[in-house]
Amino acid sequence: MEDCPHPGCGGAVSAAGGAGLCRECREPAGACPSCGAWNRPFAQFCRGCGKRFQFGSADLGSLGVEVLDTLPRDPAALEIPAEFWIAPVSFGGYLWALATDGSLWRVNPARGEVLPLLPLGPGFGRSSFVIQFLSLPGRRNPAPCLVAASPAAVAILNLAEPRAEPLLIAPESGGRFLADLDKDGFAAVAVHQGRVFVLQRRGGALAMVSHQVATGVQERCPLEASDAAGPLVIGNHVWAYNATSLMHVSGANSSLLPLAEGVTPFRSLTDGDGFRFPLGSAVWLTAPDGVYLPARTADRSGFLYLTSVHESLQQHFLALDGGFSYSADSGGRLIVAGGERLAVFEGRNKVAEIPAPSLAPNGAEHIDGQFYAWTCQMGAAIGVRFAFGDRPRNAALPQQLRTWLPKGFLIAGGALVLVVHNQHENNNLGLSVWNLFDV
Ligand SMILES: [Zn+2]
Ligand SMILES: [Zn+2]
Repeated sequence: MEDCPHPGCGGAVSAAGGAGLCRECREPAGACPSCGAWNRPFAQFCRGCGKRFQFGSADLGSLGVEVLDTLPRDPAALEIPAEFWIAPVSFGGYLWALATDGSLWRVNPARGEVLPLLPLGPGFGRSSFVIQFLSLPGRRNPAPCLVAASPAAVAILNLAEPRAEPLLIAPESGGRFLADLDKDGFAAVAVHQGRVFVLQRRGGALAMVSHQVATGVQERCPLEASDAAGPLVIGNHVWAYNATSLMHVSGANSSLLPLAEGVTPFRSLTDGDGFRFPLGSAVWLTAPDGVYLPARTADRSGFLYLTSVHESLQQHFLALDGGFSYSADSGGRLIVAGGERLAVFEGRNKVAEIPAPSLAPNGAEHIDGQFYAWTCQMGAAIGVRFAFGDRPRNAALPQQLRTWLPKGFLIAGGALVLVVHNQHENNNLGLSVWNLFDV
């Protein structure tokens, strides 16, 4: 079945593995692994064979290299009139953007559509959020859920039913969640094995609150510290950290582990001199067996790689030169761009170092076995793509976005999207969209 699953369309779907984009309505679609029928990204059951369906590709990121080579010269420009601290997250073929006034937006880059959803309300949009499949109370199948925190609540919104009210979790009476990048530093909600984790301050006391979403059972784990960032999910364990210690959280018990000698992990934006923190996610990056946490020693910046080995936590400092932007690919490799080159790490090992001359890259991806670096200069009307073993290609930015501040790149719904902030007007969000299917 090659026809579009969206109501009243019936157009032909362009495929890239299990993910597709309709050429008529430009909505994303996912292929059923059993019968091959196209389904809407958040369908629960296949419309071809009736089997349980879950969209396999979170972001249509597995596009073929030949598709990437079709970048057009004239990208489209989209704008969202609200203030943004946190970049959009790519999921299900769409971008999801949460503003500091708590308004929530769904962007379909391929359609050029910006859709306001039910606002989450004041206090949201000041710390990174997560989109994951979660079991909700009274539901048999996991649902795609956006999980965001404010000081006054954690909100869990089922993206398959975005008009329904979100499930809310409140802090203990008199307490507040750490969820404000400005006031609390790098603290944000985490999701692990059906539980939502968030740090809570009440009076002078810090605790990690964990909430099992399906059952509503909540646990509170006191932390013996006056400040904390996190939570970090490392293997099967959840941790918080501060300038001197890592704090392991297990049920209602916590234990301290000193940080590696001389290593200080970044705990707020002011720590990260020279770092460009990644878009749309927490500042730490999660690999299959560990976490990369930006950090410094007395004379070097780099990453503290934390990994669980036989249930004990190992710490390795990866020293780097220069200022950086960084991202992780779908296999959890760390890709660091800076100093006119890319360094690629697997676990604690540097597996590649690739020169990317003439401009320092500020975005990187690993797609179909090749590494790509992207770069953009403000005001120069230039977006440059590097592909290794390939010549750099240039593409002009849309006129109205040329004086905005480039923040980084995302891939969603068959598009390469450059995220820009309007620093003259309240950090409004702009998106420069190159359609990867269209030429
Ligand atoms: Zn369609
Ligand atoms: Zn099917």
